[in-house]
Amino acid sequence: MTTPEQIAFDQQHIWHPYSSMINPPPMYPVESASGVRIKLSDGRELIDGMASWWSVIHGYNHPELNQAAHEQIDKMSHVMFGGLTHEPAIELCRKLVEMTPEPLDKVFLADSGSVAVEVAIKMALQYWHAAGKPEKNRLLTVRNGYHGDTFGAMSVCDPVTGMHEIFTDVLPKHFFAPAPQTAFDAEWDPEDISELCSLLEKNHNQIAALILEPIVQGAGGMRFYSPEFLIAAKTLCDEHNVLLIADEIATGFGRSGKLFACEHANITPDILCVGKALTGGYMSLAATLTTSHIGETISKGGAGCFMHGPTFMGNPLACAVANKSLELLQKNDWQANVLRIEKGLKDGLQAASTLNSVADVRCLGAIGVIEMKEAVNTTEIQKLFIARGLWIRPFGKLVYVMPSYVMNNEDLEHLTTGMVESVMAYRG
Ligand SMILES: *Cc1c(COP(=O)(O)O)cnc(C)c1O
Repeated sequence: MTTPEQIAFDQQHIWHPYSSMINPPPMYPVESASGVRIKLSDGRELIDGMASWWSVIHGYNHPELNQAAHEQIDKMSHVMFGGLTHEPAIELCRKLVEMTPEPLDKVFLADSGSVAVEVAIKMALQYWHAAGKPEKNRLLTVRNGYHGDTFGAMSVCDPVTGMHEIFTDVLPKHFFAPAPQTAFDAEWDPEDISELCSLLEKNHNQIAALILEPIVQGAGGMRFYSPEFLIAAKTLCDEHNVLLIADEIATGFGRSGKLFACEHANITPDILCVGKALTGGYMSLAATLTTSHIGETISKGGAGCFMHGPTFMGNPLACAVANKSLELLQKNDWQANVLRIEKGLKDGLQAASTLNSVADVRCLGAIGVIEMKEAVNTTEIQKLFIARGLWIRPFGKLVYVMPSYVMNNEDLEHLTTGMVESVMAYRG
């Protein structure tokens, strides 16, 4: 049981994500978590709508993931990856190569999503350097993107919604095209890509890669856009000799209804980042995949190798759990579950669309979003969720859930009903 003294220490000494040291938000101490439930230390149980930020796809405290961790920790928790290798990393990379679209077959194991994005950017830059075009050293992206909190990743986040506006002056200047406007299932308007097209036409000699989140823009706005945009973007990249980096850190492993969101458009990027759900939310692990062509070109360059290697690269414990998580994904028919959850979210959240305070309701795969007209006060609306036994953490105007794939229909209905009721009861 977390004591009041411990909570006070937390408030005085510990940074939480995007938190203040003078005005700390209320914290809910967690005792344990199991399945789709988070148990607070005062005994209350909350149905978890967040899957701990997209990651806990099989539920908490999963017996098979626990067992995989136990078995691996009894062999070794960690060993350096420079000059040494091990079965958990090898089998994980074999699975990643098999699961991801052809011809992605070179894997870099990174320790978090942001690092996977840094690695992807470095791969693109090193590729053009090795290919004799070092002047291709800038990036192109679309607005409303989110790619992580480190400097390279920040430089391609939306300058406004990407939460990094104050760093603008120290970040490298990249090219930003407008965010895709055609919604996921709306009729495609080719005008939607025209700005991206002219940026490429004018600047392709300086551009190493286009980086974007395929189909689902996550933390930069929870927007779902047309596969046609992605198809057109891929074609333009090919025409202008620009690499395509797909950041599937949020969408990877089934979240959008396809194993990878790129599959909605049947395209294969040159570089692919995965993370978040990779270990089923057990620990931090991510990966950046690329093609043989890019891997070999980088290796033929002046440096003779790819210039990156974190201390905890290929952590065996994380790899062993990730292996089991990917096995569970296949075994538990993720596709049927994600479809089922999509239907539950659509049916359950529909009622919010007629509310005066609501601008839009949208669902794709196991992601449900209520976009409000005004930004909500997270602390205040969270009290309404907690009172209904729910864990949901909105940001800005976005009240959204991306539950674990194992959430049953009863819990899902409880989640959507409580979400709509809370939005109705919320007075800004
Ligand atoms: C969360 C996220 C990241 C950053 O991952 P971290 O593990 O938080 O560093 C990058 N890109 C996308 C699309 C994400 O959703």
